[in-house]
Formats: sequence, structure tokens, C-alpha cells
Amino acid sequence: MMLSQTPFFDLTLEDLEQLLKGLGKEKFRAQQLFKWVYERRIYDFDQMTNLSKEFREELPQFLDLSLPKMVSHVKSSIDGTQKFLFDVGDNETIESVLIPSDDRLTLCVSSEVGCNMACKFCFTAKQKLKKRLSAGQIVGQFVQVLGTLPEGQRISNIVFMGMGEPLDNPDAVFKAIDVLHNDWGLNVSRRKITVSTSGLVPEMWRVAAAKVRLAVSLNGSSDDIRSQVMPINRKYPLKDLLEACREHARVTRDKITFEYVLLKGVTDSLEDARRLYQLTKSIPCKINIIPFNEHPQSGYSRPTEAAVKLFQDELIRLGAHVLLRKTMGRDIYAACGQLNATYKGHPGRLNVLEPNFHAPLN
Ligand code: SF4
Repeated sequence: MMLSQTPFFDLTLEDLEQLLKGLGKEKFRAQQLFKWVYERRIYDFDQMTNLSKEFREELPQFLDLSLPKMVSHVKSSIDGTQKFLFDVGDNETIESVLIPSDDRLTLCVSSEVGCNMACKFCFTAKQKLKKRLSAGQIVGQFVQVLGTLPEGQRISNIVFMGMGEPLDNPDAVFKAIDVLHNDWGLNVSRRKITVSTSGLVPEMWRVAAAKVRLAVSLNGSSDDIRSQVMPINRKYPLKDLLEACREHARVTRDKITFEYVLLKGVTDSLEDARRLYQLTKSIPCKINIIPFNEHPQSGYSRPTEAAVKLFQDELIRLGAHVLLRKTMGRDIYAACGQLNATYKGHPGRLNVLEPNFHAPLN
């Protein structure tokens, strides 16, 4: 019988058990395969020595172990942030960013090539949605980046804040999360996984169902301003969005992170700070304020440090739990809102760790 190959990294443990069962194999083989791949990082069936020779020879007929190809890897000379560019087929590329800090190592993964949400401050939005990633292409970003780390070093946190709106690709995203946190998979605690949304209200319940953390890009203190900056607000206005947040906090008993980008003259007034506090004060949350990271043709500018401090101080004075997001990776265009994966084709020409190679070209 001719079998078709299923991408291994698209499969949850349960999927793999079902697949093997359908082929008349024992269920525990799925755990064995997960252990080889995710714990021991062996991507060649031939080297899985506790499997029979016959089974090892059969496996490539129905499982494909290929990962998204890493075509570039650059490192910030300022703060050690690293940006990775992956080829995801169809001549398309995506980016992941690895962000070091004192107590954690966070990987920011992409869920789509381009994005249809059209947030005005975001460089990814310059590309319309071209492709939704598969679960395997999301898991593959983690696996490939992990492979660049010294033996024993772990990625402690995962944030879905790269290219794309994760809740616009929920089936693949939540399948990937299943593999990322599974004990036999990559074993990352659910509490260290954050899904960030621009506010796709009908899909937000899935974040609570997956028991992972929720971040919401707010970026406007009134419907008028938010609709200007984030067109999704016209479909799901603040009232609906905040109600969904309240429900998430109620079900999970967890704090939500509200992200708020400070755009000079648009979202950064003291009046904005006061309205933002009023909007969020009844929801268990913290507010991450993010001074805008400039990129070509954005049409917005970054407020001065003094204006950022005034905004932050006003929120603190009112009693909000507020954090100022430290800008990381600006010199390699890896900071928040700067991902665009503008490099196209010719992977053979790239030098690994060549600084600034894929700073935006357009
Ligand atoms: S901020 Fe996120 S949701 Fe908005 S356009 Fe950019 S990638 Fe899409």
C-alpha cells in the first residue's frame, strides 16, 4: 500500500497515537518518537536505536521530519536579541525573535506570513496575509532556535507576538501549543506561553481553554482612536473586547496583559492615560506600555522619553500595574512591530550572524 507522508511536527501526541493505531502499531511508539525528537533532538529515524530496524525503515514512508529552513540569523550588538528568518515554502519567509533578559529567555514566534489586521503602527501589516502557518511551522521555529543554543540552555517563555494574528490561525496555533507544553513534547509550562491578539473577540475563549496566558493589544483609549490605529476595532469595539477580557480573567483567574503602543500625538496624552485606566481598572491586568519603534513609512513617531515617563507616572498615580517595555533588538529591526521578513530568496547567499542583513529593504 502507498502511504502519504504526514509532517511529524504538525502532530500532537494524540494525533500521532491515532496515526500509528491506524497503521496497526502500538500506541507507546508515539511517546518513543516524541522522546527521540523533542527531548533528544534526533531528526533521523535511523538513529532511533530502541526501535526495531524494520519499524525504522517503515517510518519515512508515513512521517516527514523536515523543519522550516533557517535562512538567516542575526544578533543585536546592543542587547543580544537574536532574529531568525525561516523559509516556509512558496517563496515566503517569517521571523522569530529570541529575547534574553536576567531571568528568562523568551522566543517570540510568528503564526502567519503577513497579516490582514492592518494595524497602522505595524510593519508586518505592510504585507497582506499571504499564508497561515501550519502547527509544524510554528513548532519548527522553536525547535530550530533551540538547536542554536548551547547544550543545556532552555527557552523559558514563548510569546505569540511575531508576524500575524494568532487567533486568525487558531487551529494551527493551539495544536502547536499542545506540542509545546506536552510533557513528551517540548515541556514548556502553559503559564510561560502567551497568546497576543489584536482583539479577535470570537476566538478569545480558546486562549482560556488552552490554559495559556492572554495579551491584548489595546493601543487606543477610545473607540475613535483605536479604530484609527487598529481597524479590527470597527468590528469588535472596546466594549466587546473588554467584556471578553473580563470573561477570560474570570474563567482563568489570571491577569491579562494589555499592550499599549505610545504613538506621539495619537495615543500618548495624559488624557489617554486616564481613559486607559478607566477602561482597564475593573479587569485583573497589567499594562505594558511600548514606546513606538519606528520603521520606514509608518507615518508615526516615538514620543520623547519625558512624555513616556509622564504617561507612565500618571498610570501609576491612578493605581494601575504598569510596566514600561524595554525596547530590544532595534538595531536588527527585531523590536515590537518591526517584523516584516523582507528578505526574499537566495538563502545560499546569506551569512549566518551577519548583523543587519535583513534590516527592512522597502
Ligand atoms: S500588530 Fe499583530 S495583528 Fe496587528 S497587523 Fe501587526 S501582526 Fe497583525
